[in-house]
Amino acid sequence: MTETFKNFIAGDWVAPSTGDYFEDRNPADWNDVIGRFPRSGPDDLQRAIASAKRGFAQWSKTPAPIRGQVLQRVGQLLVERKDVIARAMTREMGKVLAETGGDVQEGIDTAFYAATEGRRLFGRVVPSELRNKWAMSYRRPIGIAGLITPFNFPLAIPTWKMFPALLCGNAVIFKPAEDVPHTAHLLVEVLLEAGLPPEVVQLVHGQGSVVGRALVEHPDVPVISFTGSTETGASIGATCGKMHKRLSLEMGGKNAMMVMEDADLDLALDGVLWGAFGTTGQRCTATSRLILHEKIHDKFLQMLTARAGKLRLGPGLDAKTEVGPLIHEEARQKVAEYVDIAKKEGASVALGGRIPQGDKGGRLECGWFYEPTVLTGVKPGMRVEQEEIFGPVLAVIKAKDLTEAIRVNNDVKYGLSSSLYTRDVNGAFRAMTDLDTGITYVNAPTIGAEAHLPFGGVKQTGNGHREGGWEVYDFYSETKTIYVDYSGTLQRAQIDTEFSP
Ligand code: NAD
Repeated sequence: MTETFKNFIAGDWVAPSTGDYFEDRNPADWNDVIGRFPRSGPDDLQRAIASAKRGFAQWSKTPAPIRGQVLQRVGQLLVERKDVIARAMTREMGKVLAETGGDVQEGIDTAFYAATEGRRLFGRVVPSELRNKWAMSYRRPIGIAGLITPFNFPLAIPTWKMFPALLCGNAVIFKPAEDVPHTAHLLVEVLLEAGLPPEVVQLVHGQGSVVGRALVEHPDVPVISFTGSTETGASIGATCGKMHKRLSLEMGGKNAMMVMEDADLDLALDGVLWGAFGTTGQRCTATSRLILHEKIHDKFLQMLTARAGKLRLGPGLDAKTEVGPLIHEEARQKVAEYVDIAKKEGASVALGGRIPQGDKGGRLECGWFYEPTVLTGVKPGMRVEQEEIFGPVLAVIKAKDLTEAIRVNNDVKYGLSSSLYTRDVNGAFRAMTDLDTGITYVNAPTIGAEAHLPFGGVKQTGNGHREGGWEVYDFYSETKTIYVDYSGTLQRAQIDTEFSP
């Protein structure tokens, strides 16, 4: 019997007002139904907002160090449940167990970082230009934060948003991606068990175009944090702009790894295999372009196809699997379409380019699998070089030197991550300065962010905010400036100062 899950609204697990549900399926075996989850409507969201207001009233007055202690407990519970949640996540989302373990670990790291921030949340005291007067700033909670998240990091990305938002004293409404509602459910269970007051968190499942949209459009939700595709982010941005909401957007990428003639090629090979085919290429930071110096192009390509051709495709729960399935049939179709586009544009398929054939034992028959694919002869400006595919497809481009490689890297609308393999320190520093991305790795692939550093992109990847690290706390708090004049007289700034040069 398939389990039926509920929303968490107003301090209780409740059925949706619509009475409607959707199925959550294992992408490695579509006959495996994980559960039925609420297809909520605007009424559910309305109740969640009314409750979150009460939650905010209570939580915003709780001292920040105490809020931090709750998050410390959240981190401990995630440590205890790491394996259980990782397995559930692999079943739901498809990526291999080592990666879902890493996903949970990122949530743990984010919780422990947030916990210590409860004893900082620094404001500033600065000198006033007038005597007997103090000038300072401190951070206030804002209100209800609406959190809308994608499928590819079912736990880590929600925690990047939720933990800093909570630490800063806000209440949160969490709208997870439709493909990963079970992991969201497990995360909210942990928060409640850790002692978070129940009305401070609301979990509302459902479609982005219904619940997500209603959340964005609601006037009582002043903060929206969204991670997902650039197209969805653009429409959310337009609404939030009109409503003067505070908005953080983390969107698509078209990340490149550059390998120069002096690079350690074996190291670069390990890097590109992990960057391009880890998470089946479904990372915002995935390596989807490989820019090779012309002097090592042919040799490296040979090394790459030999190794990539041996990657073991399979269900992520199988310990031998290196590459799992795509998230759903639509994603697989999109990958197949891009491979066709590449061929029409004149690129060649050096490896893969198809749904796996001749699968022994039928392990791949009922999953959304696609072979790791390498496209060669890709020229700057081709669609497969410019557009996000979000699958196991790597476009290889030849460049004559570092200057050209940097130009090719920068000539896309996205700007999330970039990577350079070289032994030339001068070239490395030039690239670090000139690559138009929010993140650059030297001698490491385009993936591998750590929770305590700022994360985000430039151009159409983001809107200037960062998640992770210390900067995210600015997003979830409002700065208030305070002046205290204890001189007993009216002192006019800029006018009654003692010295004018
Ligand atoms: P998506 O845009 O389809 O969905 C993301 C979330 O938005 C989901 O919860 C969805 O229900 C919701 N949504 C959809 N339409 C909405 C609307 N009109 N109003 C409000 N919410 C709506 O993205 P996805 O397919 O889940 O994730 C893949 C995308 O996310 C890729 O483009 C990837 O690059 C990007 N991503 C970016 C980062 C980053 O940090 N830059 C990280 C991970 C993923």
